[in-house]
Amino acid sequence: MRPENGFQHLALNAAKLLVMSTKPVASPYLVPFDGSFRVKDAKTQPPKSGRDKDGNKKSLKKSIKKLTELQRRLYADDRHALLLVFQAMDAAGKDGTIRAVMSGVDPAGCQVFSFKAPSAEERDHDFMWRVYRSLPERGRIGIFNRSHYEEVLVVRVHPEFLEGQQLPRPLDPKAIWKSRYEAIRAFEKHWAASGTVVLKFWLNVSEQEQGKRFLDRIDEPEANWKFSARDVEERKLWDKYMVAYEKALNETSRPEAPWYAVPADDKAFMRATVADIIVRKLEQLDLRYPEVTAEERAALLARRAELTPEE
Ligand code: ATP
Ligand code: MG
Repeated sequence: MRPENGFQHLALNAAKLLVMSTKPVASPYLVPFDGSFRVKDAKTQPPKSGRDKDGNKKSLKKSIKKLTELQRRLYADDRHALLLVFQAMDAAGKDGTIRAVMSGVDPAGCQVFSFKAPSAEERDHDFMWRVYRSLPERGRIGIFNRSHYEEVLVVRVHPEFLEGQQLPRPLDPKAIWKSRYEAIRAFEKHWAASGTVVLKFWLNVSEQEQGKRFLDRIDEPEANWKFSARDVEERKLWDKYMVAYEKALNETSRPEAPWYAVPADDKAFMRATVADIIVRKLEQLDLRYPEVTAEERAALLARRAELTPEE
């Protein structure tokens, strides 16, 4: 084969891999890219005909096992990073899902960042600053428990927060949301093109189920610490949050950084669904342990001979 054919072959393979790795994992919960997502049609309950609790637990266990191996390869391959973004209303189960799905993963290869209201230092920078500093390195899994999306969710529900953000005046909220969606799309596209796989999960809990979980937090003394009066205040703004979520998901679900709106009223189903999407995405990537050439192998064997104790 002539060398240029060899390169052509390589280039074709690379193109094929690129297409593969930007192809979103199919799921009934994938948020379409054409702006047609509607919160009112999004399911908060699993399908009636689906697996039972035990079935979901088994499925999660299988995925965790696969994820353990895939993460080892992600780390050894050292070309891609995986960024998992979790957004949800309070008590939807972000923390528990992160804990369950990552339970088999080597802590050295994985990092969780929880984003709260920005500090004074963070407010002195643009909203992506703190996010950019928290992105996973190649080979690692980064988990965002809340994220840059708060800037078009909680802040959109409370536009008065913009006042405290030291932005140039005059403030034009409409223009700000538009420019934030644009910025988010552009950043995520850039991360994806640079090798970071971006998966975003909206854990979609119903208002009724959230109410039940808040009551449980009050009734169970061991869960009291999780209850916050502020969460009840935010709950009163439910409809506004749903408008903000619908807008954000439509504006930013793209093939290179898709959103999945996962039903969250049933925790076992939600965890199994999230884990399955992550596993199938990593399986697309063709992650490999670095190959050893014949020369490197020969050098290793020579070292082996040196190290072997004499009889
Ligand atoms: P949990 O309650 O399960 O511990 P949490 O994610 O709700 O977890 P909290 O400390 O209760 O954590 O809440 C963090 C708060 O910070 C949320 O109300 C969230 O909306 C808010 N927040 C995060 N990012 C921003 C932001 N950029 N601007 C304003 N508020 C933000
Ligand atoms: Mg909270």
